[in-house]
Amino acid sequence: MLPFLRDQYGNPSSAYSFGKRVAQAVDRAREQVAALLHCEPNEILFTSCGTESNNSAIQSALMLDPDRKHLVTSKVEHSAIKKHAESLARRGYEITSLDVDSDGLIDLGELERAIRPETALVSLMWANNETGVLSPIAEAADICRSKGTLFHSDAIQAVGKVEIDVSAIPVQFVSLSGHKFHAPKGVAALYINRKTRFNPFLIGGSQESGKRGGTENTPYIVGIGKAAELAAAHFAEEDRNVKPLRDRFEQHLLKVVPGAQRNGHPTNRLPNTSSLAIDGVDSEGMLMLLDKEGVCCSAGSACTSGSLEASHVLKAMGFSNERARGSLRFSLSRFTTSAEIDQALEIIPRAIEKLRSMSQGVLVG
Ligand SMILES: *Cc1c(COP(=O)(O)O)cnc(C)c1O
Repeated sequence: MLPFLRDQYGNPSSAYSFGKRVAQAVDRAREQVAALLHCEPNEILFTSCGTESNNSAIQSALMLDPDRKHLVTSKVEHSAIKKHAESLARRGYEITSLDVDSDGLIDLGELERAIRPETALVSLMWANNETGVLSPIAEAADICRSKGTLFHSDAIQAVGKVEIDVSAIPVQFVSLSGHKFHAPKGVAALYINRKTRFNPFLIGGSQESGKRGGTENTPYIVGIGKAAELAAAHFAEEDRNVKPLRDRFEQHLLKVVPGAQRNGHPTNRLPNTSSLAIDGVDSEGMLMLLDKEGVCCSAGSACTSGSLEASHVLKAMGFSNERARGSLRFSLSRFTTSAEIDQALEIIPRAIEKLRSMSQGVLVG
């Protein structure tokens, strides 16, 4: 990225060669992201964040046919879908939010029954950001195709961790975000199937083939391209290295911490995520205590932590407020080492013990 911050600051839309060299770097990044998803470079639209990608897909689908005022989504979506859907509901759109079972999975029969002739779009996340649970995306896409409904997947949590091959699935839109696979924050992309009509969300200049006005954030686009290339090159490590570390971490905690339980389907999930419910512990207090010891985790989702609302994901899975508020999410990456896991496994049970004895002290006192 550095050359594009320092020297190569030409505008990729300009006609002079100083800008054209930058345009070539943007093209290269588009090819790198396309290769990760198995699509054509011209099916990749660069955006500013995953939230923008999600918003753009929904808005485009709604604008395509003004008579279609119904949207199908699920109860466990990220707020970048959920709150948008809520805002649309206030403006006269009808939203169906599919339930999930205690493993965090939607029911495909329910999806099929929810789609109507006036459904503009079905939007389902590829992998859940709190539990890592994987949705049945290929099956859902087939149902949408058979019903003639556009299908979007928020794959922001899944890209780089599990195989995403958009050439094998009838999906029209897929969102991804750089900072979820080691690119910098503030750059993302939306896959738009080349046969799908698209209405720009940002209306302005003819950048991005007219799909998004606004001068490109070229250093960051170069960054997301490189991160996509590296994610593809290191992809095998997710199952080979990250998953065994996550499993060792999780199994150890489930064994040594009384009253600890896993949230989400045991196998049908991302290789790097562990969401654990710890009986009788307040996850916000736990997070603070672990932070002091150098273990970074999140209570529910990072975007909502700090608020006292119990996770909507865990509640949709049928768990009590108490269980949701006692849940922590740990995330690993290909940079996580075995020694770090050993260290975390030292620290976490001790911290839980400490917090539990403190809350007991309050009860006794
Ligand atoms: C992080 C995340 C988002 C939001 O992405 P930003 O780049 O932060 O806007 C949306 N959906 C899911 C599933 C995410 O994990």
